[in-house]
Amino acid sequence: MNKTYKRVSTKAVLYWLVMSILFFDIVIQGNRLLDCALETDAEGSSRQEQNAGQDQTGGNDAMDSDPYCDIIRVALTFDDGPHPVYTPMLLDGLQERGVKATFFVTGENAEAYPELIERMRKEGHLIGNHTYSHVELSAVGEETFFKELEQTSQILEELTGEEILFVRPPYGEWNKEIEALCNMFPVLWDVDSLDWSSKNTQAVAKRVLKDVEDGDIILMHDSYLSTVEAALYLIDVLTEQGYEFVTVDELLFD
Ligand code: ZN
Repeated sequence: MNKTYKRVSTKAVLYWLVMSILFFDIVIQGNRLLDCALETDAEGSSRQEQNAGQDQTGGNDAMDSDPYCDIIRVALTFDDGPHPVYTPMLLDGLQERGVKATFFVTGENAEAYPELIERMRKEGHLIGNHTYSHVELSAVGEETFFKELEQTSQILEELTGEEILFVRPPYGEWNKEIEALCNMFPVLWDVDSLDWSSKNTQAVAKRVLKDVEDGDIILMHDSYLSTVEAALYLIDVLTEQGYEFVTVDELLFD
């Protein structure tokens, strides 16, 4: 009697142990799938938590490799514009594809082509500060540092009605000591297309495709036809591969 009871008891313990493991596994998986679904649905959400401020050689490894989530996000960023010919071409291509990008513009060019800044804002792109006259911020004094940034933000805020929070320092050179006094968030990059150097559509596309990973910020310049062609090609190819294109703020903070 005692023996039978013992055998039943052991079986029961094993049974409940297996059932408990299965139950928790299902609950955990269910929650993770639900998280993914919510993440997919939420417009503008991002799996990237933090990657600004790293150096240009990239410290932004693929941060999320959750096998339950298939969303891969990257941010296309375009510096030095707006350009009177190539920026409208790029905006047309982005609009056709429903893709949002981030433009780090100079104050000089924003003043010269204000209608393009207004169009960027209207079409949902993020606009950031790239200094007024493309200066190397680590090489100038404190006064010039602030003047270059403030003048540009003022121009952009008047055109967009929105606060300018992000800065892409020209040449990736930033003054860490002054940063504490500056109410802006520096954004560097993970993948450098070197488009200004090659000015070749295939070379630009190839370079980006070789290096791009989930969560990357891609550096390009909307000052060349080859960049516009390469960017639109990249969007088509990477979209096929499951990538989503988001603005830098979405990638960094959502
Ligand atoms: Zn630049």
